[in-house]
Order: sequence, then structure tokens, then C-alpha cells
Amino acid sequence: MMQAAKTLLVTGGSRGIGAAICRLAADAGYRVAVNYVANPDAAETVVRDIEQAGGEAFAVQADMAEESDILAMYEMVDQRFGRLDALVNNAGIVDRKARVDEMDLARFERMMRINVIGTMLCAREAVKRMSTRHGGKGGAIVNISSIAAVLGSAGEYVDYAASKAAVDTFTMGLAREVAEEGIRVNAVRPGITDTEIHASGGQPDRAQRLSGLIPMKRPGTAEEIARAALWLLSDEASYSTGAILNVSGGR
Ligand code: NAP
Repeated sequence: MMQAAKTLLVTGGSRGIGAAICRLAADAGYRVAVNYVANPDAAETVVRDIEQAGGEAFAVQADMAEESDILAMYEMVDQRFGRLDALVNNAGIVDRKARVDEMDLARFERMMRINVIGTMLCAREAVKRMSTRHGGKGGAIVNISSIAAVLGSAGEYVDYAASKAAVDTFTMGLAREVAEEGIRVNAVRPGITDTEIHASGGQPDRAQRLSGLIPMKRPGTAEEIARAALWLLSDEASYSTGAILNVSGGR
């Protein structure tokens, strides 16, 4: 019997790096769950493109800041696919450029809830489904961190940088915790990548403006980040776990 195609859940799959991951994954044969929070049209465009290319995908709304949304999203994935082979924790936010002494509690909480706690909750639900300890068949998780985790983003968004450092440490620890249970957990650290995230933080020209700081003197594309994530998910990376891959043009 032919084995059913592998399934992948991508959080924040509607735009930017997440959308590129969804498209490349579908090309590689994955059935893809495309999560979004506020842009159903963007998510449906990704789904339609995948379907038109002969792949299988569906859109699922869930706010990574809400545990109940995340649980409902996983129920949808269970219903549609009946199995989960891979997760990319990609959804993430930045905020306005500010110093730490200008940031309020609401900002800190939102940053950590979406970037850190959302990632941990999604990983927890994936482990419950993938781990051989729980009767699963194994799988792979890729967390999208940021080179900010090692640079610190002083004067811009130290809160964001710290949230991504938490993602890095979570990646290393979880990788070791589930290494014997068939699950690999890795992270990609993108550098400045040309997506709409910079506009969402009030700096639409950021990728071009800061190009001079990048040794390669250009921002990355969403697809360049996606290729690294797809490699870490694949069997080509079968001996990599707890790895954090910089994809940042040398920065
Ligand atoms: P983007 O273009 O702003 O897209 C963000 C995606 O995440 C969208 O699909 C959005 O959904 C979704 N999203 C946002 N908040 C969410 C929430 N609360 N719950 C669920 N989904 C949510 O961002 P991007 O540049 O592709 O960034 C993707 C990841 O890469 C992030 O983790 C980011 O920190 C990281 N990263 C980006 C860069 C960069 O320079 N672009 C550099 C380093 C790391 P909607 O379409 O519904 O809004």
C-alpha cells in the first residue's frame, strides 16, 4: 500500500516566511495546514495556489496568544489529516521600535505570549501526537527564531530579541527531551528578511535601510529561509536535532 503523504502544520502560514514554507512543503509532497490569525484571504490564496499545483492544503484560524485557539486548531488538523508528521512554529510578531524604558507590561506580555508561549503550546501538542512514547510515529519540529536572539536588538526591540532567545533555548531542551522518541527539534535563525513584518512594526523600509549591516549587503527572501526550514524537516537532516541554523547573510 502506498504510504499517505506526510502532513505539516505551519503557524502563521498565510504570509511572509510561513507562506513560503507552506508552498515549498506542498511542492515537496506534504499536505499542509495553513494557520493564520487575521487574514483569511491571504491564507486562502496560499491554499488555492497549493491546490492548483495539485497539492492538498487547508486554512485554519487560531491566535497563538490563546491556548483554546491552539487546541481547536489541532482538533481541525486531527480531523482533516488524522496524523501529524511535522510542525513549523513560524508565527511571530515584532512591535514598534522603542527602548526598554519606554515599553509597557501589555507589550511584554503580548510579545511573550505569541512568540514564546504560543511556540511552546504548539510544540506540546505536536509532541503528544508524534512521540513514540504516546503511540505516535515520530516527526520533526522547526522553530523560527531570529538572529536577533544573539544580537539583542538594542534600541529597536530588545523584548523581541529576548523572546527569540527563549525559542532557541526551548529548541535545545525539547530536542534532547524527545530525541529518543522519534522527534527532531531544530530552529532557523533568519536575518533581515524581506516580508511585511517590518511594516507591521512601523518600519516598512527596514529591510532595505539596514542592508548595509548585512555582510551580503541584501535582505534574505522568504523562500531562502523556507528552504532551510524544509531541509531541517526532511530526512536529509536525520542526525540534526537541537541545531540552530543561522540563515542571515553572514550577520
Ligand atoms: P509576517 O510577514 O509579518 O507574517 C506573519 C505571519 O504570522 C502571518 O501569517 C500572520 O497571520 C501570522 N501571525 C501573526 N500573529 C499571529 C498570531 N497571534 N497567531 C497566529 N498567527 C499569527 O512575518 P515574517 O517576516 O514572515 O516572520 C515569520 C517569522 O520569522 C516570525 O516568527 C519572525 O519573528 C521571524 N523572523 C522574521 C524576520 C524578518 O526579517 N522578516 C527575521 C527574523 C525572524 P495573518 O496573515 O493572519 O496576520
